[in-house]
Amino acid sequence: MGFRAKKDINMYVCGPTVYNYAHIGNMRTYILGDLITRFLEYKGYNVKYVRNYTDVDDKTIKGSIESGKSLEEFTNFYIKEFEKDCALLNLNEPDVKPRPTKLIKEIVEFIEDLIKDGYAYKAKDGSTYFDISKFVNYGKLNNIKQKELKKGGSGRVNLDEYEKDNASDFVLWKAWKEEDGKVFWNTSLGKGRPGWHIECSVMCYKYLGKTVDIHVGGEDLKFPHHENEIAQSEAHNKVRFTNYWVHGGMLTVDGKKMSKRYGNIYTIKEVLEKGYNPIALKLYYFMSNYRSSMDFSFDELKETELKLNGLNKTIKRLVGYHGPKGGVEEYKKKIKIYLKDIEKVMDNDFNTRLAMTYLLDMFSYINLNITEGKLSTGNVKFTLQTLKKLDTVFGIFQFPEMPTKLILKKVKKRQWYRAKKNYVMADKMRDQLKDYLVEDHKNGAFSVYKI
Ligand SMILES: [Zn+2]
Repeated sequence: MGFRAKKDINMYVCGPTVYNYAHIGNMRTYILGDLITRFLEYKGYNVKYVRNYTDVDDKTIKGSIESGKSLEEFTNFYIKEFEKDCALLNLNEPDVKPRPTKLIKEIVEFIEDLIKDGYAYKAKDGSTYFDISKFVNYGKLNNIKQKELKKGGSGRVNLDEYEKDNASDFVLWKAWKEEDGKVFWNTSLGKGRPGWHIECSVMCYKYLGKTVDIHVGGEDLKFPHHENEIAQSEAHNKVRFTNYWVHGGMLTVDGKKMSKRYGNIYTIKEVLEKGYNPIALKLYYFMSNYRSSMDFSFDELKETELKLNGLNKTIKRLVGYHGPKGGVEEYKKKIKIYLKDIEKVMDNDFNTRLAMTYLLDMFSYINLNITEGKLSTGNVKFTLQTLKKLDTVFGIFQFPEMPTKLILKKVKKRQWYRAKKNYVMADKMRDQLKDYLVEDHKNGAFSVYKI
């Protein structure tokens, strides 16, 4: 009785290709991945969370050669920068952050298995391809019918990314070409390097097993990347690859697709340099549904930051709240209802948009009760516990230190002098509290907190 074994969930997020700084659109996906693990942990699940770094592909090789650095030096730099961004956004660390360059042996073995089972073949150009005609379910994620596709052998793509119209046999192992420079491995598949898609299939298999419960990625990865991951993994593992696909919607900036041409690609560092709190970006994203595409503007980010500041101010007022004993019974009930409402909408496909609506309502209610001086010590404690619990999911609040006993004594003395109309002494007390703000509420309650 009372004991319930934690259910394990495994989750894979297609991580960044580390050839550049991640932009705010990329980060929307990683914020989503983080949110899902946090919410599932909150619900009592045990989540194993893997998010990879793509450190070898067309773009990383090109970038490393252009910068005159080795592939490892080049990608290490962007991995570090990415992790700084994640810290600024208060994202939890994944359990595993694999890199394909460290898993070449596993990748080659996986491809060898596919060849053995007839799903892959080595072509005249020296590269190894996946034969999509052999995998009858090819196209199932994107609703593309086999007959609409070019049959294996007639069409082949050697690029990591391509359009649906070009769906054809895709590359698993790329034979070395001059433009690859020093990037190659000598293996049983020949001198070359892995393609992009095979990397994720192998990393899922190695760290999470044959089936992934939840697989997350931006909507732009649905084709060809995820379609190819399914083909490779199901051909190899002989069981369903992913139970739930979660695709994050796209982000436009000022009504336009992010592109160099419009100069509207922003990184987290730029958000910071422009004077914004990156955490406000999280709240901003949570205010729409993750599946919807969303338009970003700095004006709206500013508005959201003001909202976030308001929430954190309420927490300050709460932490530094002192009031008469008593409190209202229905207050606790109401807070519990808000919490249940938030959980309910989060249970329904992580509906953060509605969750944030309830959250903001809840904060208005808390603020009102502070101003009215209606909270008991128990009410305050309960509210803070609830908010801390919720913040394990959203990771957006700031909880300040409690004011010290000495500070409280000074505030109380000041009130006492004021009640006695001894304003000289009351002002003296206030001067001693100059780093603090004392807010007087109704009912003789007050909040004291650092300015
Ligand atoms: Zn992937």
